[in-house]
Amino acid sequence: MIPVSLSWVAEQVNGQLIAQHKQDLIIKGVSTDTRSILPTDLFLALQGPNFDGHKFVKQAEDKGAVGLILSRKVETRLPYILVADTTIALGLLGAAVKAKVAPKTVGITGSSGKTTVREMVAAILSHRGKVLATKGNLNNDLGVPMTLLRLEQQHEFAVIEMGANHLGEIAYTSNLVKPDVATIVNAAAAHLEGFGSLLGVARAKSEIFKGLSEKEGLAVVNADSQFADYWMGKLKYNNVQTFSASKQADVYSENIILGLDGCAQFELVTPIGRIAISLSLPGAHNVSNALVSASLALHVGATLEDVRDGLRTMPHVAGRLHVKQLTNQVKILDDTYNANVGSVNAAIDLLSSFAGIKILVLGDMAELGEKARYYHEKVGEYAKLKGIDKLYTLGVLSQSASDVFTDNGRHFSRLEQMVECINQQTMPEKCDISILVKGSRSARMELVVKALEESP
Ligand code: ATP
Ligand code: UDP
Ligand code: MG
Repeated sequence: MIPVSLSWVAEQVNGQLIAQHKQDLIIKGVSTDTRSILPTDLFLALQGPNFDGHKFVKQAEDKGAVGLILSRKVETRLPYILVADTTIALGLLGAAVKAKVAPKTVGITGSSGKTTVREMVAAILSHRGKVLATKGNLNNDLGVPMTLLRLEQQHEFAVIEMGANHLGEIAYTSNLVKPDVATIVNAAAAHLEGFGSLLGVARAKSEIFKGLSEKEGLAVVNADSQFADYWMGKLKYNNVQTFSASKQADVYSENIILGLDGCAQFELVTPIGRIAISLSLPGAHNVSNALVSASLALHVGATLEDVRDGLRTMPHVAGRLHVKQLTNQVKILDDTYNANVGSVNAAIDLLSSFAGIKILVLGDMAELGEKARYYHEKVGEYAKLKGIDKLYTLGVLSQSASDVFTDNGRHFSRLEQMVECINQQTMPEKCDISILVKGSRSARMELVVKALEESP
């Protein structure tokens, strides 16, 4: 974080600075956790599900915190800033630091692909200058301001991922981020419990455009989405650019060829010219991710060559459809990071493009609300339609998928049994076998991948 004074912080968060000494101290970071706080940090007390941060003021003092942000008075020798709500103060401070550093800023939301697109955009922009990007999954009302607080003066670009599990959350974070360009990668059945319906998801995601400036901000719209017209309707006063992997748009792909490794090559067509692209990530859905990344990056100053070089060399993102060669003939498609209907179908598309026997290993897709079983059945039907040979499931909901798959569908109640069944088929190796392993975070399907990798 850029160094700032306590009095500046107090002003930004509409707080009252209470200090025993007149000297205005400088802070070099903000921490919400005394377990990881650094001596030059300001400690901001949050009320969480397990603890009240105000109870850790003594620990913050002992670890050398410079000052505090509190929402109620606590006995302390440190200077503190009193605010009505510390979560709001965190947001205001993140926004103020962002405004002070003033990097060119990209905002990303969507049901699937936010992290992948963020990594693509960051890879492209790193050819132009210093980039700050969201880390891990810090994409909610706390994670977004914490990310903005990591900005340093030398950052020329900020690439910010925004997620949500309730209406209004992205409007809030986007207004802190104030992106120069923003997009909704896609909308699919995910987090339905929080949004009620697929349209509810599309509506919640559209809040990202509220943070754009009307005159200069650019909204990038997925022309392949069923919600394209809906989003366009909300963008009457903004600059808009569309992207598509299947038809002409402002930014689009031509001549897509999927290689043997599942990675695509294609011609990227943009308003400023065209260039040949060779992707380092597999799957047709990553063509779509690459197109939106190109549009976002070009708007904040990348060249076509930056786009090409960034997309060619970027490393895979762990747990997102990572193709691992287990033996000469057996491949694992590790897509265990998370799952919703859209991302499972995208992964099935890739699996279906491989030669040999194709096995889908599915764990539960979480947070789908009342229609959860229906969505699992849909996935089972889609796998059948795409010529997948076997569907093995683990978890209560996913059984609906193996049930509709009929003959070659099988449900397991224990991981060990499933792994044994898979191992029987892969040994002795007779032909190519590709195994896609996928499920929601809570399904922890990475344990299946680990067990397969560790099998003798
Ligand atoms: P989360 O909200 O769970 O953090 P995310 O939106 O950040 O997810 P990623 O982590 O990039 O998305 O990818 C999650 C899953 O979605 C992976 O399985 C990935 O392969 C798949 N995926 C990525 N991009 C797309 C896309 N454009 N369409 C469908 N599925 C996608
Ligand atoms: N907290 C802290 N020190 C501790 C435990 C918790 O500063 O030893 C903070 C924590 O970082 C968070 C707040 O107290 O900002 C509320 O904690 P929460 O209920 O979210 O618990 P957590 O999941 O962080 O353990
Ligand atoms: Mg993510």
